[in-house]
Amino acid sequence: MNTWKRPSVRSSDTQRLAIARQCTAGIRTSITDPRQQSHEGIVYLLGMSDSSSTIAVSAITPHATTTAGSFDVTVVSMAAIVRRAADLGLAIVGQVHTHPMQAFHSGGDFDGMRIRYPGYVSIVLPKYGREFPKWGGAEILMCVGPHEYVRIKTSDIVEVSDCS
Ligand SMILES: [Zn+2]
Repeated sequence: MNTWKRPSVRSSDTQRLAIARQCTAGIRTSITDPRQQSHEGIVYLLGMSDSSSTIAVSAITPHATTTAGSFDVTVVSMAAIVRRAADLGLAIVGQVHTHPMQAFHSGGDFDGMRIRYPGYVSIVLPKYGREFPKWGGAEILMCVGPHEYVRIKTSDIVEVSDCS
């Protein structure tokens, strides 16, 4: 019996997402190669979160197997990213992946999310991220509880200068 239930998604009220410019640049770099192959791209965001406010300060590209409609990050590759984050004194605060056309979180996207805790952000970019760093058409969800997410409007993303 299939008991999978789609997580609930509601509008954000108090949740905030800030992204440093160098993180935006890192996302752009990460999704360029897969985009050129017309493959989905996947990149993880490192930063800090207090469970309702999250700031992403850098982006890190995992070793991933990508196709036109999927991506797969191995457990070994995920472990390397966790280690890298720890070395930098940062947490993995989110992920960005691209879709061929429309951006939305599929059942597989929710299922395949290897990390989820309150404050964790998942972003899907449309058209393999062709228009990025414009956020138009992106779907941005922040985890707020088990099987519970809020939607953050692209216009509410706060861009911050690099803090180094
Ligand atoms: Zn997806």
